[in-house]
Amino acid sequence: MNNRIQVGVIGATGMVGQNFLRLLNNHPWFEVTYLAASPNSAGKKYREAVAGRWHMREEIPAQVRDLIVEDASLVEKARGKCRLIFSAVEMDKQSILAIEAEYARQGFAVVSNNSAHRNTGDVPVMLPEINHEHLNVIPLQQKNHGWDKGFLVVKPNCSIQSYMLPIYALIKAGYPIDQMIVTTLQAVSGAGYPGPASIDLIDNLIPYIPGEEEKSEIEPRKILGSIKNNQIVPDENLKISAHCNRVPVVDGHTACCSIHFAGKKPDIPEIIHIWRSFTALPQELKLPSAPIPPMVYREEVDRPQPQKDRDTGNGMTVTVGRLRKCNVFDYRFVGLHHNTVRGAAGGSILTAELLVAKGFLT
Ligand code: NAP
Repeated sequence: MNNRIQVGVIGATGMVGQNFLRLLNNHPWFEVTYLAASPNSAGKKYREAVAGRWHMREEIPAQVRDLIVEDASLVEKARGKCRLIFSAVEMDKQSILAIEAEYARQGFAVVSNNSAHRNTGDVPVMLPEINHEHLNVIPLQQKNHGWDKGFLVVKPNCSIQSYMLPIYALIKAGYPIDQMIVTTLQAVSGAGYPGPASIDLIDNLIPYIPGEEEKSEIEPRKILGSIKNNQIVPDENLKISAHCNRVPVVDGHTACCSIHFAGKKPDIPEIIHIWRSFTALPQELKLPSAPIPPMVYREEVDRPQPQKDRDTGNGMTVTVGRLRKCNVFDYRFVGLHHNTVRGAAGGSILTAELLVAKGFLT
């Protein structure tokens, strides 16, 4: 693509915002031309706004170092500077609902990391390998709101990517799943910076992440749902019981899952074959951020592990292992993904690439 699409990042100074800038550096389709954050950062050059709190291993990309950070609430500042907004702001829910809708109203395509709009019926919760067809709700969303070029899509909670691809691959292969118990072990970067105090987490585990279990139980149903009457109607056939824990890992969310099939049950070699051969539209379209393969199965008895597996496929591949029989349900397995890449910035960029490929950003 010769003329790259100009994009903005709001919440650019935070943990997810920094990952956006790292992953968008030299992106073949997108060029970052607009940055915004809170009034505390507004008016500063980006490198000044993140001084002492740049958490990426790479240097701040040269293209954004000297960009002036705007106040994300002053939406008109983005006009003429970009076509698409990646939202990674952390604000109260009402403010996020309002600010993201305002960017859409003013003609921007918005891809959000925040949970505020995930239960809005005409807003797709995108996991590009699974529900790309939900993008068909965008024209209806624009009609519902009277928006012209602008629209809003969101990515799911960062805890669910470890198991959504594995269970979707099985469902798609003709083995519907009706019950699932999942216990997540979630990294501290998932809480943003600075996250929990070190004294609360070193030598410890916190068995509660506000709102996380509810999101983990509700969002998969919407992702597996279908469009009816201009809304995305969740698939009520899947029941999930989630336990979400914060653990002293920097990056990489792990999920220990037990699944029950609604009808016929594949055997272990067939499940592994289904996972290993799974591929989807982002891979077929060769989207720049689409990992090939999207999912790997590891045979070692002690994998996946966050330190060893989170960066597989540049942090976009889901690693699965430890498939075995379950004494209560049918099977157990462990899934792992990089929470700030596949679970946040990288997943959003893949969604934006899909929007381009499907012609939504003309
Ligand atoms: P974070 O590190 O706390 O960063 C928050 C960002 O929001 C900063 O850029 C901050 O700007 C900005 N902000 C705060 N108050 C604002 C205001 N009043 N107006 C405009 N901007 C404001 O949080 P994060 O972890 O990056 O998370 C960002 C969003 O992504 C959240 O909605 C979170 O739920 C979601 N998310 C996070 C993860 C993850 O793994 N961390 C995964 C998925 C989704 P200043 O620096 O100027 O204060």
